[in-house]
Amino acid sequence: MIIDFHTHIFPPQVIENRQSYTDCDPCFAALYENPKAKMITAEELVESMDASRIDISVVQNIGWTAHELCVETNDYILESIKKYPDRLVGFCSVQPLSMGNAVKEIERCAAGGAKGIGELRPDIQMLPIDDKDFMQPFVDSLVKNNMILLTHSSEPVGHQYPGKGTVTPQMLYSFIYNHPELTVVCAHWVGGLPFYALMPEVEMALENVYFDSAASPFLYKPLIYRQVSELVGEDKILFGSDYPLLEQSRIIKEILLQDLSDITKMKILGENARRLLGIA
Ligand SMILES: [Zn+2]
Repeated sequence: MIIDFHTHIFPPQVIENRQSYTDCDPCFAALYENPKAKMITAEELVESMDASRIDISVVQNIGWTAHELCVETNDYILESIKKYPDRLVGFCSVQPLSMGNAVKEIERCAAGGAKGIGELRPDIQMLPIDDKDFMQPFVDSLVKNNMILLTHSSEPVGHQYPGKGTVTPQMLYSFIYNHPELTVVCAHWVGGLPFYALMPEVEMALENVYFDSAASPFLYKPLIYRQVSELVGEDKILFGSDYPLLEQSRIIKEILLQDLSDITKMKILGENARRLLGIA
């Protein structure tokens, strides 16, 4: 079974009125200000999945800064997973700065079939993510609703790119350390955090943390798959494309070409995600 853990879809009204959403939301603007940055609907995603022989895609929202924009786009994700219950798994978006609304929205999305919240943007959403007391109601609500958190992350070094931001390993580590009860998927290989898993206390703190490969060819040499497998274990790595930023088939090809056992490739391409999402 092949599962792409990191894709993005948008409602037709957002795609058609791109400029007005760019004008009112800094996260959307960072990612889609450039008219060449592709946006797709659920239908287009399923077409790509069929072409790349992908069984299931996890659709992620983005870190909208206003609660109302989270709700509007979550509606589309909930509608899409109802339309394609065997093909799509939904992650919705909330703005924890408005904590009461965020907790209510987590409950609404869980009731609507969503399996998680993501892609969180702690930097652009201006979250005091290292403040344990502030973040606790958000974490409690996710745990209570059996939801996973997927967060963006970025490298503290290297080249700049649209949407890179400042969600560094240091910022995420304090959040992960403060909330060991929460299952977290860190996108884009967590900006290099797996290296620190060689420190025993960090390895322990990462027990409930998974790492996705979204946008990997734009960031790292393909050797990253083997290196991170050795650092954190092959059970922790999830195939994610960031489609439509990158073609889904491109990442699958990259994984298949690596010097890894067939079992490891199978785990990365879908088995780890299947287990994490509780899919039979
Ligand atoms: Zn991201």
